[in-house]
Amino acid sequence: SFAGKTAIITGSNSGIGLGVARELARAGANIVLNSFTDTKEDHKLAEDLAAEFDVEARYIQADMSKPDECRALIEKAGACDILVNNAGIQHVSPIEDFPTAKWDAIIAINMSSAFHCTAAALPMMRKAGWGRIVNIASAHGLTASPYKSAYVAAKHGVVGLTKVTALETAQEDITCNAICPGYVKTPLVEAQIPDTAEKYGMTEEEAVQKVILERQPSKEFATVEQIGGTAVFLCSSAADQITGTTISVDGGWTAL
Ligand code: NAD
Repeated sequence: SFAGKTAIITGSNSGIGLGVARELARAGANIVLNSFTDTKEDHKLAEDLAAEFDVEARYIQADMSKPDECRALIEKAGACDILVNNAGIQHVSPIEDFPTAKWDAIIAINMSSAFHCTAAALPMMRKAGWGRIVNIASAHGLTASPYKSAYVAAKHGVVGLTKVTALETAQEDITCNAICPGYVKTPLVEAQIPDTAEKYGMTEEEAVQKVILERQPSKEFATVEQIGGTAVFLCSSAADQITGTTISVDGGWTAL
C-alpha cells in the first residue's frame, strides 16, 4: 500500500491520467490531480476520488506548457513521492505544413513538462529517501508514424529523459521508468470511432479493427485501468530494481 504517500499526476482530469490516479488511489496513495483548467468539475473529480478510496485528493491547476507552472505544481503539492508525467496533446500534419506553434506546444507539454516536474520533484524525493517517477510515453516513444513529427520526437525525448533520470538516481531509492501505451480506450479515442467509420464507409467495428487498431496486433485497445495497474506495479517493491527502462502496453505493436 502507498498509504501516506503523495502521487502527483499531470494532465489527470481525463483519460489515462485519471485512470492512473484512480489505480494509485485504490492502492492507498494521496492524489494530486492536475490540468490547465480550473472548473468545479475538476475539483469534484478530486472530491470523488477521496470519497471512493478514502484517501486525500486535491486538484491543482497548472499549465504544463509553462515551465514555471510545472515547477509551481510540485511546490504547491508540498510533497511528491510518486510523480506521473502524463499530460500530452497531439497534432497530425506533414512536416512542411506542421504549424510552429503546435510543434512548440507539443514539445513543451509532452516532453519539457516532464523535465521541469522531475527537476522540482527530485529534491523532495531525496529528502524523503524514496521516490518513483513514471513517465507516460507511447509506442511512439519507440517507433514512428508519418505526420506525427512533434509527438514522436517528444515521446522519444521522454524515453531519453527517463534513462538520464534513472542514472542520476541509480544509487538512491528512486526509480524512473516509462510506460509506452499503444492505443488506449479513452473518451478521445472513442470519439474518433464514428468519424473514422464514416470516412472509410465501414461499420464502427471494422473501423476499429482495420483502421484504428491497424498496427495493434491484439486488435484490442488497452484500458486506462491497465495503464494504471502498470504504474502501480512500477511503484511497488517488486519493481525496486527496474529503472531507466520502458514497459510497452501495446498489444504487440512494437514487436512487429
Ligand atoms: P486526454 O486528452 O484524455 O488526456 C490528456 C490530459 O492532459 C488531459 O487531462 C488534459 O487536460 C491534459 N492537458 C493537456 N494540455 C495540458 C496542459 N497544457 N497543461 C496541463 N494539462 C494538460 O488523452 P490521453 O489519451 O489520456 O493522454 C494521456 C497521455 O497518454 C498523453 O501523454 C498521451 O500522449 C499518452 N498516450 C495516449 C495514448 C492513447 O491511445 N490514448 C497512447 C499512448 C500514449
